[in-house]
Amino acid sequence: MSDENKPVVSNFIRTIIDNHNATKRFGGKVHLRFPPEPNGFLHIGHAKSICLNFGLARDYNGKCNLRFDDTNPVKEEDAYVKAIKEDIRWLGFEWDKECYASDYFDTLYEYAVRLVKKGLAYVDDLSSEEIRAYRGTLKEPGKNSPWRDRSVEENLDLLERMKTGEFPDGTKVLRARIDMSSPNMNMRDPVMYRILHARHHRTGDKWCIYPMYDWAHGQSDSIEGVTHSICTLEFEDHRPLYEWFLEKLEIHKPQQIEFARLNLTYTLMSKRKLLKLVNEGIVDGWDDPRMPTIAGMRRRGVTPAALRNFSESVGVAKSNSVVDVAQFDFAIREDLNKTALRAMAVMEPIRLVIEDYPEGKTEWLEGVNNPEDDSAGKRKIPFERELYIERGDFMIDPPKKYFRLAPGREVRLKHAYYVTCTRYETDSEGRVTTVFARHDPATRGGWSDDGRKVKGTLHWVAVNHAVSAEVRLYDHLFNTPNPGEARDDDAFYAILNKESLKILPDVKVEPVIAACAPGTRFQFLRQGYFCADIKEHSTERPVFNRTATLRDSWAKTKKKS
Ligand code: ATP
Ligand code: MG
Repeated sequence: MSDENKPVVSNFIRTIIDNHNATKRFGGKVHLRFPPEPNGFLHIGHAKSICLNFGLARDYNGKCNLRFDDTNPVKEEDAYVKAIKEDIRWLGFEWDKECYASDYFDTLYEYAVRLVKKGLAYVDDLSSEEIRAYRGTLKEPGKNSPWRDRSVEENLDLLERMKTGEFPDGTKVLRARIDMSSPNMNMRDPVMYRILHARHHRTGDKWCIYPMYDWAHGQSDSIEGVTHSICTLEFEDHRPLYEWFLEKLEIHKPQQIEFARLNLTYTLMSKRKLLKLVNEGIVDGWDDPRMPTIAGMRRRGVTPAALRNFSESVGVAKSNSVVDVAQFDFAIREDLNKTALRAMAVMEPIRLVIEDYPEGKTEWLEGVNNPEDDSAGKRKIPFERELYIERGDFMIDPPKKYFRLAPGREVRLKHAYYVTCTRYETDSEGRVTTVFARHDPATRGGWSDDGRKVKGTLHWVAVNHAVSAEVRLYDHLFNTPNPGEARDDDAFYAILNKESLKILPDVKVEPVIAACAPGTRFQFLRQGYFCADIKEHSTERPVFNRTATLRDSWAKTKKKS
């Protein structure tokens, strides 16, 4: 794989690991994990985290677990577990161990008992509203719960009875006994267990108390022998709690390291909001090509290498920022330019008749499949008297800088001949229906021996060999660069781009294109990158998704800076 040979770019996380290795803090071991909650599909932000964690494991000869953070039974499903595994493998990574936080429910319970016995956890009868009110604010300290000084025996008894299902949801919680006046709100006696009589996707009805994120996460890391627990910046204030639990339990203590989330313009990264798009039918499922999910991008035709390269190119930051989605498009184009097969497709066809070319004759001309890759070989392209060209490639009365076809003008037909327009026909409304031209037989292949130059090169498809295909042109789902900022439903619906999908039902394509396997990627000359839809494309009914346009605004911005 090309990205494996690239020199490693250092970052602050690598520096931390190097220091640990130098001081033998973890005996030179590097063990990471990627910990998704199976409550939705993975998106490009997760891809960033996957590339980071699995990439570090690869570069340090370490390990990386896949751990499903399945502590909230109400939102989690096996279908998401399956999709997440598929997406990670598609990205090109393989985990060392597949783990589930729910595998540790018994151990977590034992740990909780241990803290209760040390007087470091208690059962609280306050309601969630009361707990919130007692917590205080950033400016004011909290108040101790009246239940905070229950005896160890009473707490052990109540915890056991919480576990056996004696109490209804919300009536009791187990809390860590830390400091209600800590300047860090996370240390004000955080909740460890809540009562929830809900069926879990793996443990079924065994449990009716479920651990909170902070109570499950660090202990899971510790149980797995994780050395570096990489998470996003919003968990920075949770680190003291992460360490408090591990220190009080006297178990292996990994190093939590925070980095900035990936944010992209025009892109939503919240699973909750993405789920809303799916549930309300605004998109066609989690793998809709407009979705920022890995499954959606795969279906759109994005390559795993493009995602990995992009992830590498944004680097690892210590403060939050928003990356221009154009930088992602650049990575997509850069990879597809090297790998996609070139072919011709006419999106909005009109007829071009080569008047001096014999009727009934077919010539099989040659086209290179990829000028960037000789091994992609060549293909035969049928040429005939009647061709399709783009409506936009002909003008009756063009301005000076128009280098395409117009009466009296000469252009190159890609891989074929120079042709000069002789005349055209229109329908009753004045719309051009057919353009006529003569060809120069000496320019076969699209080159002239006499050094005569033409400025324009058009793509085309022979009428009798053309296959009709459906082409789906995708655009951003949102018409604002920061869709994550929409605060309520009204704001959210208002920023939806109504033109994010345009379907062209009758695009004329070369026969080889129609015959390709689902998932094959092309550059349609002068049009962009397209991918045969992995769900719906067939030779009988070809369907292509636009992966990216050819426009290259990011490259320009980069050169300027
Ligand atoms: P959401 O809030 O949308 O549900 P999440 O962060 O809760 O997302 P998880 O499934 O908990 O989703 O995330 C798994 C891992 O991926 C975590 O380690 C998380 O930090 C990381 N991650 C999630 N979103 C991003 C992002 N935008 N950039 C980088 N890493 C991310
Ligand atoms: Mg989460």
